[in-house]
This record gives sequence, C-alpha cells and structure tokens, in this order.
Amino acid sequence: MPINVTRSSMPGFDEYCEEIRELWDSHFLTNMGVKHQQLEKDLEKYLDVANVVLFTNGHLALENAIAYYAFPEGSEVITTPFTFVSTTHAIVRNGLKPVFCDVNEKDFTIDADKIEELITEKTVAIVPVHVYGNLCDTDRIQEIADRHGLKVIYDAAHAFGVKKNGVGAANFGDMSMFSFHATKVYNTIEGGAVCFKEDGPRDDLNHLKNFGISGLEECVRIGGNAKMNEFQAAMGICNLRHVDDEIAKRKHVAETYDRWLGKLDGIRLNRTAEGITPNYAYYPVIFDSYKLSRDEVYRKLRENGILSRKYFYPLTSDFECYGNFEKNDTPCARYLAAHVLTLPMYADLSDEDISRICSIIGE
Ligand SMILES: *Cc1c(COP(=O)(O)O)cnc(C)c1O
Repeated sequence: MPINVTRSSMPGFDEYCEEIRELWDSHFLTNMGVKHQQLEKDLEKYLDVANVVLFTNGHLALENAIAYYAFPEGSEVITTPFTFVSTTHAIVRNGLKPVFCDVNEKDFTIDADKIEELITEKTVAIVPVHVYGNLCDTDRIQEIADRHGLKVIYDAAHAFGVKKNGVGAANFGDMSMFSFHATKVYNTIEGGAVCFKEDGPRDDLNHLKNFGISGLEECVRIGGNAKMNEFQAAMGICNLRHVDDEIAKRKHVAETYDRWLGKLDGIRLNRTAEGITPNYAYYPVIFDSYKLSRDEVYRKLRENGILSRKYFYPLTSDFECYGNFEKNDTPCARYLAAHVLTLPMYADLSDEDISRICSIIGE
C-alpha cells in the first residue's frame, strides 16, 4: 500500500450531511451565511483571538491582509525564502518588493538578528512564517517593528492551534494568516482566515473579500472575490469538533517517529521550544551527515511507495519568476532546503506504517 505524505481529516459522512441540511432548506449557499458566521465565532473561541475573518483559501487571506494596508507600490517587505511560494507571491502580487532574510538553524523561522540590517527607508512590513508550526521569535520581531514603524503580518498557515505560554498564535503581530487547506492540520476543504487582536480591520477585510461592496449601492474598495462558501464553512464546523483528537493522534505519530529516528546518527529532528503547545503539523528531518543524502532517502522511500516531501525546496527566491529580485545571502535557508525532508504525517498514520518508513530510512 502506498503511503502519502498527508491525508485529509474528515468528519463522519452523516455528521457532514446533517450540518448541511439547513442549506437545502434555505437555498443560501454563500455570501457570509449562517455557517460562515458560526465558524468565525467557533474559531475565535478555539484560536483564542478576538477577530477571525474567513477567506476562501489561505493564499487570498494573506494577499488581502497585505492589501488592507495599501502600501505604496514598490515598498519593501522583509520575508524569508524558506516557505511555500504563496508567501512570496502574496507580497509581489500586491506590487511590493520581497527582501529575503535568512532563517535560523534552531527552528527554521526568520533569523531576528538579521532583520534590522535589511531595513531601508522603503521598508513597510515584515512577513515572517511560523515554519512547521514552530513559532517565530514574536517578541523580538515586534520590538524591531515598533522601533522602525513596520507592520507585522504572519504567515501562520502551519500554526493552527499552536500556543506560546498559553497565548494563541493568532494574537501575534498586526495580523496572522491561517490556511485551512485539505492538507493542513485543520481543514475546510479549501479555506483560510486572517486573525487579529484589534477590531479595526474587520469591516475593510470583509469588503476586500467581497468586491469592495459595503452596501446595496456602495463600493468602498477595489476588492476581489475571496469569500468562503457555506459548504466549506460547514466542513470547518464539523472538523473543529474533532481537531483536538486529530492533534493528539499526530502527537502519537511524532513520538513514534522520534523513538525510531532518535537512534540514528547524522540526522536532526524538530524540537518543540520551551513554552510552546505544538500541533505536530509536519515531521521534518534534517539529513545533516547521515550515511544517505536527503535525495537518496527521498528516492528510496519513493521506490517503496512512500511519498515524502522536500519541503521547502527550492527556496522561493530561486524560482524563475523571482529572477528579477536581488538575492541576499541566505545560507541557512539554502542549507535546509538541500537537507530537509518532511515524512508522512497525518492523524491515522499507523504504527506499522511508521515502522516501515523508519526501517527503510535506517537500513
Ligand atoms: C498552505 C500554505 C499557504 C497557502 O494556503 P492555501 O490555503 O493553500 O491557499 C501559504 N503559506 C504556507 C506556509 C502554507 O503552508
């Protein structure tokens, strides 16, 4: 049996059907209906944040979060290249210039020591990524942003349910984007949200995701269409009931991997930092000086019907479409992109499958 790198969590068929029954009665399928409203409330509670604005996917959530600030064209945004290409696209599609900062070796998030040297008079924001659910150094980043008058918009696509000293990840910076894509810890099939503490941006984000429309005969912004529909929201309501169980199962998978792989020399495993409540979104392994290279392990697993993922490789700054932006030296990001593999990780991954995967890596 082939093993995929991920497997979407789903509620029971009957549970979902029951959840969407009233949509058949009302014929109200989208445009911020009852399911949409309920899911925003449910998520505000779960993520322990004052404001959740839903979007049809994580990418458009991030693109609109940045658009909200209407930064002058050509302004600079400090970000990292060790991410999913969506992060960089969201910046550039807003007419802004990505300035690539290196990541740190410890948790693969932006290296806070290297941010300030990249700030110029054109810098307007920092867009850091909580890689694999490891949270960035949010205190230092905020301190730097405050000192230089910059906005901080987190790509928190990996960080659903993660907490730092009991504070939900959604509370850091000016805004955070979460992705509810089918492959993530928590899904609404496709989906996403922008979360933030202060009430201010809520109306405007709602306008941006709905053509800028603010009333029957009023249009206040040049918005697009990025609304989550009622069926996505219903899936989200159901999946949220089970997400704690799913994360508990992922914890078991991660601990089982740790037991197998912790014995091997020349590899590095992801460590949960102090004070962090993790979500076990991914299981990254860094093949530093292992007897097999990252690419050899990837091929060997593949030959055995097991899909792992070079995540993230290549660096987004290396994609052809970003050839026009200058490349800063980001040696740590480059090293990680060449040595990391994320192994299959999902709630129902069996102990037998984990032992098969680890035997192939270890033999
Ligand atoms: C998944 C992901 C996105 C995009 O989210 P979608 O919901 O797929 O649009 C952005 N950034 C990162 C880091 C992601 O993992």
